[in-house]
Amino acid sequence: MESAEIRDVVVLGSGPAGLTAAIYSARADLRPLVLEGEPSSSSDQPGGQLMLTTDVENFPGFAHGVLGPELMVSMRAQAERFGAEILTERASRVDLASTPMGIWIGDRDLPEPTLRARTLIIATGARSLMLGLENEARLLGHGVSTCATCDGFFFRDKRIVVIGGGDSALEEALFLTKFGDSVTVVHRRKELRASKIMQDRAFRNEKITFRWDSTVVDVLGDERLTGLRLRDVNTGEESEIVADGVFVAIGHAPSTELFAGQLETDEAGYLVSREGTKTNVPGVFACGDVQDHVYRQAVTAAGSGCMAAIDAERYLSSLAQT
Ligand code: NAP
Repeated sequence: MESAEIRDVVVLGSGPAGLTAAIYSARADLRPLVLEGEPSSSSDQPGGQLMLTTDVENFPGFAHGVLGPELMVSMRAQAERFGAEILTERASRVDLASTPMGIWIGDRDLPEPTLRARTLIIATGARSLMLGLENEARLLGHGVSTCATCDGFFFRDKRIVVIGGGDSALEEALFLTKFGDSVTVVHRRKELRASKIMQDRAFRNEKITFRWDSTVVDVLGDERLTGLRLRDVNTGEESEIVADGVFVAIGHAPSTELFAGQLETDEAGYLVSREGTKTNVPGVFACGDVQDHVYRQAVTAAGSGCMAAIDAERYLSSLAQT
């Protein structure tokens, strides 16, 4: 790629939102360039969160479900088929005030951007939240995980704990029953946030037990995880439980650091989009989980990716007419 090449459409992110935006803008002959992220980075998994799931049972068109990674590989191939160019890179800096906008890949301190874009579609998604405990970070990859699909296999016949009470936590717990001897869900309240269908499945599963009203105060183990110290939120009493694996599933945070000070965000840090997918900067559109903390589904992300591509196309047409 030549230095400061100008593209009509650059898409940041390659989950359902980014790839759907790429499919639509490629079919509109806009030759989109997708920066899909880097596999080594925890914050921008190419393919997005579906790469870390197993069965997706609610994406329309798949009567018998589809594996998350399979769906994403297929969306990527579909985007490429229509001429989207996909780079396994991440943007290190953006300048949304210049025209065309500047995008840096690699060294963010270089004076000139790597490429320029007339429109930018932001689909950088959201990532897993952590408890924020020192030993949690130290033992990540040594018994502590955020991805059952990736790591469940390592805990065959082991004692597993899942932290959280939402759909993610129960999905992880149910998946982990395929491997573990037991799965204990530790939740800070005594009511789950998860949907009724997931609750029913979890309550029916003999391997799953619940530890209610409990917060994690420490993650135990030297080289490898050995257990957790919990606190009962009602009595303040602390106790330890033995665990070989802990899966943290307490929600997500939007990946918006790149746009700090340039794009409007809400109080939770999600990008604000209005009139479809428009942000506060003309020519910049946001779609998928980076701007949605309400629905957060693959199908809604894909739908908003389609909207972003149409909004970008209309914006480019309006530029051409002026
Ligand atoms: P979520 O719905 O926000 O749930 C997060 C859970 O973690 C809550 O139970 C919360 O407790 C708990 N939590 C948050 N911070 C915590 C902390 N510091 N310590 C202990 N516990 C903490 O997130 P999610 O489960 O990732 O789901 C996100 C969205 O994706 C939801 O809309 C969900 O329906 C959807 N989703 C759907 C599926 C599916 O349909 N198969 C699968 C996964 C996710 P409180 O309840 O007390 O706040």
